[in-house]
Amino acid sequence: GSPSRYDFVIVGGGTSGLVVANRLSEMGDVTVAVIEAGDSVFNNRNVTSVQGYGLSFGSSIDWAYQTDVQKYAGGTRQTLRAGKAIGGTSTINGMAYTRAQKVQIDAWEKVGNKGWNWDSLMPYYKKSEGFEIPTPEQIARGADYYIRYHGESGPLKVGWPIMMTNSSMLPILDETFQKIGLPYNRDVNGGYMVGLTSHPNTVDREANIRADAARAYYWPFEARPNLKIISNTYANKILWANESNGEAVAIGVDVIGPDGGETIYASKEVILSAGSLKSSVILEHSGIGNPEILGKFNIPVVVNNPSVGENLQDQTNNGLAYEGTEFWLGSPTFSALPSADQLYGKNVSAVASFVNSSLADYAKAVAHSSNGAVQEANLLSAFQLQYDLVFKSQVPYAEIVFVPIAHSFSSEYWPLLPFSRGSIHVKSPDAAEPASINPNYFMFEQDLNSQADVARYIRNLFETAPLSDLVGDEFSPSLDHVPKNASESEWTNWAKSTYRSNFHPVGTASMLPRDKGGVVSPELKVYGTKNVRVIDASVLPFQLCGHLTSTLYAVAERASDLIKKQYIPR
Ligand code: FAD
Repeated sequence: GSPSRYDFVIVGGGTSGLVVANRLSEMGDVTVAVIEAGDSVFNNRNVTSVQGYGLSFGSSIDWAYQTDVQKYAGGTRQTLRAGKAIGGTSTINGMAYTRAQKVQIDAWEKVGNKGWNWDSLMPYYKKSEGFEIPTPEQIARGADYYIRYHGESGPLKVGWPIMMTNSSMLPILDETFQKIGLPYNRDVNGGYMVGLTSHPNTVDREANIRADAARAYYWPFEARPNLKIISNTYANKILWANESNGEAVAIGVDVIGPDGGETIYASKEVILSAGSLKSSVILEHSGIGNPEILGKFNIPVVVNNPSVGENLQDQTNNGLAYEGTEFWLGSPTFSALPSADQLYGKNVSAVASFVNSSLADYAKAVAHSSNGAVQEANLLSAFQLQYDLVFKSQVPYAEIVFVPIAHSFSSEYWPLLPFSRGSIHVKSPDAAEPASINPNYFMFEQDLNSQADVARYIRNLFETAPLSDLVGDEFSPSLDHVPKNASESEWTNWAKSTYRSNFHPVGTASMLPRDKGGVVSPELKVYGTKNVRVIDASVLPFQLCGHLTSTLYAVAERASDLIKKQYIPR
């Protein structure tokens, strides 16, 4: 048949890709194609079920990427979950909707990304959001908000699940936290995240189902004649025009679908939205990356940029669990977000000065582990900025979630801003083969220590009334495994042997100036190319204190406007 040709070809119909596809196809005179490896999950109960978190793990819609052996974290591999479906990871995630602390988004502009700051992103958080005003019943159970922070007419339904945990829970948590110095935060989504909160979720309350990217941005618009999803189709690499003096020009994408291999041609742009564990890998297979790495697999270099695939940042998750003295029903939405001051109390200055005096070593170690691909000086300034966020701006240092379900009361947590940095790189010339993924979990002492420190804070919390009245024995890790006055190393050994990824990888195609380790510009254009962008979690230059989707939807909304400006004559 005749070759497939579109104006815009988007690789990955996930959280970010579907936003871009939707907004670009609002321009009636352009055609948009989305290449997606997965299929529709519209009627998949593992996806739609509001209380079904985890049901899709290990199923055919979970990429279940494997990391390399984690040498600082017990020598095992981790499974990194990611959605393989129309809707991407938003179809399998935990649905928490929390944004970021204002200073973290402002930091993007501070490091050289003109136009990216909290005030310029806020209209796009709202544009994507269809906030559902809680019912009186939900308000009684802790749903709380300031309407000025929310958009009510966006496509993504955001609110509280129809069945929330009973109304005594939040006051009990609040009273307990007041005793240890963490205040209540009425609305975590206004740019100030510290405190105890009952956060909203991406949920369609009326239908009582998950609100994912496909339900928000694709299915209601599926009939647009200029928007096409090419599903069950895997993108290998970008194809380039033969002649280009200067910037590389993409002409299309090499894919393999149900009927075999073909080229999907793009007359305007190729946009990578395959997620932070994949977009940078596609860049490398397309010849954009570190010549030393590409050379090993005979991939011809199109753009020399050693930063591609570097700067990988993820978080680590552990949990404690207690026997409940009651029986609980409903979907819990309680999070505590203490700052370093609140977590460490009078020890905070000792911790801060230890971290401060380690920053130069951290930078040296990451530069070394990247074989010099990442510049030590760039790392040092990134680490100083992160230090300032944690110890001067006092952004949240950890998130702790509370899950009273049936006869148990568990609590998962993750330190929000580890210093460890890793990378993702191709390890085969064959684009169908997995890449080498190395997050370097617990590379630095403070990253591991904080994993222990937050656990101790939680144990102490559950021993504090009135929360202590709701629980019996701790059964995980249990006092047998980590005794009452356990040492730091008893806690860190437990953490290393039981942690998992928190599934928030970012940074592998960072939006930063090129000489500071950037892969994309503030227009999210890949340096050295004329018409390739990355729009997904890969571009976040730093980890955030919020869960990622709210910010990814906003970034994709804003990026879509930047693209449209270029194509709509004004
Ligand atoms: P994705 O949504 O992953 O989209 C990438 C798409 O590209 C996928 O559809 C994939 O199939 C496709 N793709 C990949 N490679 C190819 C290829 N070669 N060819 C064609 N298609 C390809 N965030 C929150 O906000 N709240 C939470 O509660 C939360 N919980 C989470 C729980 C889990 C288990 C996980 C894994 C993540 C969670 N997150 C949460 C994080 C959040 O969901 C992700 O960061 C976000 O969805 C990523 O969006 P993205 O656009 O970067 O990529």
